[in-house]
Amino acid sequence: MIDLTAYAKNIPLPGQTLEGELFTTGFGGKGANQAVIAAHCGADVHFIGKLGRDLFGDSIAENFKKLGMNSDFVDRSDTPNGVAHIWVDGNGENRIVIIPGANYEIDPARAIQGINSIQDLTVVVAQCEIKQEVTLAAFSAAKKRGCTTILNPAPFQPLSAQLLEVTDWIIPNETEFLELHGKAPSSDEILKEFRPGKNSIVTLGSEGAALIKADGTITRIAAPKVSAVDTTGAGDAFVGTFAFALASGKSAIDAVNLGIKVASMSVTRKGAQSSYPTQIEISTLS
Ligand code: ATP
Repeated sequence: MIDLTAYAKNIPLPGQTLEGELFTTGFGGKGANQAVIAAHCGADVHFIGKLGRDLFGDSIAENFKKLGMNSDFVDRSDTPNGVAHIWVDGNGENRIVIIPGANYEIDPARAIQGINSIQDLTVVVAQCEIKQEVTLAAFSAAKKRGCTTILNPAPFQPLSAQLLEVTDWIIPNETEFLELHGKAPSSDEILKEFRPGKNSIVTLGSEGAALIKADGTITRIAAPKVSAVDTTGAGDAFVGTFAFALASGKSAIDAVNLGIKVASMSVTRKGAQSSYPTQIEISTLS
């Protein structure tokens, strides 16, 4: 996805036109954001996906190359590249419309081929900006190889029982948790009944995150107090960093801790990938 972002003190009401302060284009997309922050952390990242055969697709391909990410399974399509139209208001809150474009052209068989061809694969991460059948195919292949699978159910869509079965970790934010579970994550009792016997993490914005282990233990980890400028891509910073940390052999609690620190740093700067800390900054956090 390419992010087309308008910054304005107030967001227009229906039928209203307002002048904003700034317009930017930036690299975005939940999958790409999570892959890029994992690469910043030092992970050996392989990306499976599809870009448009257009200028947006070309610039993303170039960015992946620059970051040293393996793109052997990043194919091109005649369908335009995915874009996200983002509005950020004066409080740093965002509203987003995404148009998936080429992302919906990924073929499940090609995803399986990708998963099976990557050497030393430990963790596979997916989101809901591609078709669920592709994620199911990729996760099923990953589980057969003994890998850990992490699903960030964003943007929300109902998830099939088969996909949940092959998902080791699910990481919703508060809104997605409410949509998945029908209740807000307001108490430990509600968190415990979410996915008994499986691991989950709920990200809680400025409150940090709640880790729900398969054995039912709940750990709440606070976020550092920061001055938030733009939370776009914060959830992705958390997921990509958590995946890197888990793949590096860290405990779940340590991985959540690092995810929170990196994500909280990202909200102090504008944009998604452009707000992510560098490898040197991250090395000072762990
Ligand atoms: P977004 O959709 O805005 O990218 P999200 O809703 O998926 O984010 P959140 O739960 O809002 O995800 O935030 C993810 C992580 O980012 C939090 O766990 C926290 O570490 C950090 N974070 C987000 N907002 C703040 C904030 N205001 N102050 C400090 N940390 C924050």
